[in-house]
Amino acid sequence: MLEELLSQLNTIRDEALAALENAKTEADIEAVKNRTIGRSGAITALSPMMGKIPPENKKQAGMAFNEVKVAITTALEAAREKTASSAAAASAIDVTMPGRRPHAGRKHPVSQTIEECCAIFRRMGFVAVSGPELEDIWHNFDALNAPLSHPSRDVKDTFYLSDGRLLRTQTSAVQIRTMEKEKPPIRIISPGRCYRRDTPDATHGVHFHQIEGLYIDTDVSLADLKTTLMTFASEYFGREIAVRMRPSFFPFTEPSVECDFSCVMCGGKGCNVCKNSGWLEIAGAGMVNPKVLENVGYDPKEVRGFAFGFGLERLAMLKHRINDLRLFSDNDVRFLYQF
Ligand SMILES: [Zn+2]
Repeated sequence: MLEELLSQLNTIRDEALAALENAKTEADIEAVKNRTIGRSGAITALSPMMGKIPPENKKQAGMAFNEVKVAITTALEAAREKTASSAAAASAIDVTMPGRRPHAGRKHPVSQTIEECCAIFRRMGFVAVSGPELEDIWHNFDALNAPLSHPSRDVKDTFYLSDGRLLRTQTSAVQIRTMEKEKPPIRIISPGRCYRRDTPDATHGVHFHQIEGLYIDTDVSLADLKTTLMTFASEYFGREIAVRMRPSFFPFTEPSVECDFSCVMCGGKGCNVCKNSGWLEIAGAGMVNPKVLENVGYDPKEVRGFAFGFGLERLAMLKHRINDLRLFSDNDVRFLYQF
């Protein structure tokens, strides 16, 4: 009887230890426990045999029960530790893996263009000044000699606030503010954001950036304007650019001119960007209207000057071959990271 009991106990132990050796999960381990030392396990099922063991063998049988229980319990513990540590290893950080590179922020292409333009004009002696985007009618229209009937004053073209102020339609207002405060000579540029009621498309937006320049002194001519723009364009585009002037009309200037740059794509030979003309319309400019000088308290007989303005997005689009103005305000990082 004893032999049979001992043999059955050994078989249960050997099978249990072998099963635990191969156990992969908590569930595997629990299954081994349940079918051996659990309440309805094989070892528990052997207990009634104790009653049939002769008294002189009872001690040995009892010890055999204990030894097998201890062996299985120890193996269960070891198996639990093993699966727990391998689970932890699987979820742990692998310090040998290459790290994720954080994206460094960078300046928006329009900001970069503003800085490039300012740096070029600074080398020619211009100082960059800024002014409010929320303007009054005097600085945005009246002082600039815009007639009351001028279409740009219309509510269809300009964003007005209920208090009569407006979102500035150009940065020329900054020129008025500067002239009101300072005496000639004045040599400034004013880059900044402007607003117009427009239907956004590839070349128009409700907001855009302009840079305007103003040079007031006792002896300033259109030749100075042309030289200034030629120097700027050649430096900005990194190649020789010619400037052509065509008569035009702006209330702020008299005479007024449209300034064309020789095409930066084809060098003036003609291409689809310049519509085969070899020229690109870039800036509106002219000699500051004497009425404007009077508006700010200057004497037109003593001083005169030139002013010019152009769109910064247009410049950046030509330099970087961008075909849609809206890309600048979509803020798609795939676009922005190219600059
Ligand atoms: Zn061209």
